[in-house]
Amino acid sequence: MTISRNGSRPAELGEQEYYTGAVRTEPLLAAPAPARVRVLSVTFAPGARTAWHTHPFGQTLVVTDGAGWAQRWNGPREDIHPGDVIWFPPGEKHWHGATSSTPLTHIAIVEHLDGTFVQWLERVTDEQYGGA
Ligand code: MN
Repeated sequence: MTISRNGSRPAELGEQEYYTGAVRTEPLLAAPAPARVRVLSVTFAPGARTAWHTHPFGQTLVVTDGAGWAQRWNGPREDIHPGDVIWFPPGEKHWHGATSSTPLTHIAIVEHLDGTFVQWLERVTDEQYGGA
């Protein structure tokens, strides 16, 4: 048994190449091989969001605080709230982030394929973020 104590997992700032706005990630779990799963808590400031991206084995988000938006390619922008659980299938192009007025925290659960958890694509434009 391993207990990872609160405060012992250093938070990281999201790389500006892949995010718009202030994003903070806290690693929660990086299970040793042959397990592939990683779990992290991600907090977005108001207006902050990921770039468009895909995950090779899909991704689950569990919204824990605040209010956010998420969208799949060719789909509408959707409201996401604490308690919501969102599944993106493998390869589905999408983004997620805070609303323009409220921060968002979600737990993200992903598995890697040969070390790759995410394939980053273009940025989400202000028009796309605004729900256009
Ligand atoms: Mn994602």
